[in-house]
Amino acid sequence: MAHVIPLWEIPSLAVKDAKDRFPVRRIFCVGRNYVEHQREMGGDGRETPFFFLKSAHALVSGGGDVHYPPKTANYHYEAEMVVAIARGGRRIEARRANEHVFGYGIGLDMTRRDLQQMGKDNGRPWDFGKDFDEAAPCSALVPAAKPGHPAFHPSRGAIWLKVNGKERQKADLSDMIWSVPEQIAFLSEYYTLEPGDIIFSGTPAGVGPAKAGDDLLAGIEGLGELKVRIIPAL
Ligand code: MN
Repeated sequence: MAHVIPLWEIPSLAVKDAKDRFPVRRIFCVGRNYVEHQREMGGDGRETPFFFLKSAHALVSGGGDVHYPPKTANYHYEAEMVVAIARGGRRIEARRANEHVFGYGIGLDMTRRDLQQMGKDNGRPWDFGKDFDEAAPCSALVPAAKPGHPAFHPSRGAIWLKVNGKERQKADLSDMIWSVPEQIAFLSEYYTLEPGDIIFSGTPAGVGPAKAGDDLLAGIEGLGELKVRIIPAL
């Protein structure tokens, strides 16, 4: 099919030890999915998590240099496990949700916290706070299925983030309020999940500001690390 303007590249993520890439369709993100993070955001630790979306074009595949974004004075990091969907579906049962997963990675749900707060204060959308250029750095994906190995669906293990070598976030994946299978089940009640959708599965406590020159290092046991350097605004 011909197009009247040049077609852009489909956003995609690298896959560990593979040459083919994982094409990304949509990015779903769960909010307030760790009790201690609910509390630091002003909650009582008992709210029900919820979702918002980011454009797939906000991905920064493999991390590296990320520009400080415009129109914010409070730019935050949020380290999260990322779940990549290989098989779509509607009304997926949690107990079968893992069958829909391609693999897992490490993501940073970068946030213009001041713009997000302005949205909250005025009952307006979060998009400008959450969905902007380079707002979703993400590591290569580790496949859930590898020939000769048992299926790999991490539900426990350390998740952490360091800024300039100093630990700022540290928790365990088992601290999630909604597990990954529960998130897939919930989302698939509202959307037809499609191959290529990815889910940012929530951040633990310890979120905070980043500035130009900062080195962010996020890691998850069994998935490796994601390195990002914040560079001056464009
Ligand atoms: Mn988040």
